[in-house]
Amino acid sequence: MSNKITMSNEGTLQVPDFPTIPFIIGDGIGPDLWHAAVRVFDRAVEKVYNGRRKISWKEVLAGEKAFHETGEWLPKETLTVLREYLVGIKGPLTTPVGGGIRSLNVALRKDLDLYVCQRPTKWFEGVPSPVRHPEYVDMVIFRENTEDIYAGIEFQAGSAESNKLQDFLHDELDIDYNFSSTTGVGVKLVSEEGSKRLVRAAIEHAIQYGLPSVTIVHKGNIMKYTEGAFKIWGFEVAETEFADKTYTWGQWERTKAEKGESAANQEQKEALASGKILIKDIIADNFLQQILLNPRDFSVVATLNLNGDYISDALAAMVGGIGIAPGANINFKTGHAVFEATHGTAPRFANTNTMNPSSVILSGVMMLEYLGWTEASAAIVKALGETIIAKTVTVDFYNLMDDAILVKTSEFADRIIEKL
Ligand code: NAD
Repeated sequence: MSNKITMSNEGTLQVPDFPTIPFIIGDGIGPDLWHAAVRVFDRAVEKVYNGRRKISWKEVLAGEKAFHETGEWLPKETLTVLREYLVGIKGPLTTPVGGGIRSLNVALRKDLDLYVCQRPTKWFEGVPSPVRHPEYVDMVIFRENTEDIYAGIEFQAGSAESNKLQDFLHDELDIDYNFSSTTGVGVKLVSEEGSKRLVRAAIEHAIQYGLPSVTIVHKGNIMKYTEGAFKIWGFEVAETEFADKTYTWGQWERTKAEKGESAANQEQKEALASGKILIKDIIADNFLQQILLNPRDFSVVATLNLNGDYISDALAAMVGGIGIAPGANINFKTGHAVFEATHGTAPRFANTNTMNPSSVILSGVMMLEYLGWTEASAAIVKALGETIIAKTVTVDFYNLMDDAILVKTSEFADRIIEKL
């Protein structure tokens, strides 16, 4: 039997009991975190499935290790393997300075068209937090991963390209703006397909997990045809593809215009009482305020690339920082997925065996859930939670907690394994 994870024609993931999963060990603190995390994954799977299931890990190269061994930052072979095996996990990678690849992560996401960046933010009891009620934060961010100004189309001030583009805007499109040779130019791209597939994935997630709402976060009041269109297309997906399961603020607005506000409120109330998911929207700056004031108002969050970047760090800080923030990059159509911690390589701490492996462990938890191995993922979450409650923590948490016991990265994994 094949050991490859595949996608069926009906769009469901086919996971063999002994899958091969490629991993990129990562730069900087990557190896320390990976060596700790992989022991947790293997032990949990062994314990829960008693030998009926097991992952074979296949190392593929990227980043500094790849550069030293092959002269390339992101060898073709790595992309081929990830494409072939569908699901992979990676550590953080150094962003090469100067020339060629802008960012290895962006290159990977682009190559596999991993259009969803999924980041759950949930508090674990005992984790130090700067807010009074971190337990109120329980959100899953769906960040669009392929478009927006992240497409990287931008031109330096004074360059021929920048000047040419400004001339075009002025001469051909009659744009009334104070163009100058000291202005850099960037292009923001947001498509209907890109927006719809992202919001579709967010709604499907809410349906699958019985969550109450999907909030579309945007800056459409200012950027009408990119961020504003994202909201409109988002509502459209809900109303055309999930009409029996959702109620949108677009519908509310229409009913209000036709029959008045109380009729619209009544309609929304009835829809929610019948179990429909509320699809609402909020302007990004207000959202950043509301997650501090009323975090319980939000569950699934669908947003564009740049907003998603800011939002996920802000939310991660509320529940304990990037040492415990997992993530996944997924194409739900092809099944391709690369799971990864949200932080970087923290090069100062490389090979110190001190950093928090929770981010990588929880990325693996997301991966196990994605594979449908939910017994193993639940076991890890429980053991990780107990380890933190026992106050055996790495330095990032230790510095913020009273009476905690400081442990190394590898020891933190040992403590989790003891509790599995
Ligand atoms: P960083 O996330 O690597 O580190 C910032 C700080 O966060 C660290 O100094 C450390 O105090 C803390 N931190 C990070 N991970 C931690 C962990 N697991 N446990 C405890 N504390 C942790 O950000 P940076 O220093 O801005 O970036 C360093 C390099 O990483 C750059 O080359 C950057 O491009 C790259 N990067 C890669 C990724 C990725 O591969 N996904 C993401 C972000 C940054």
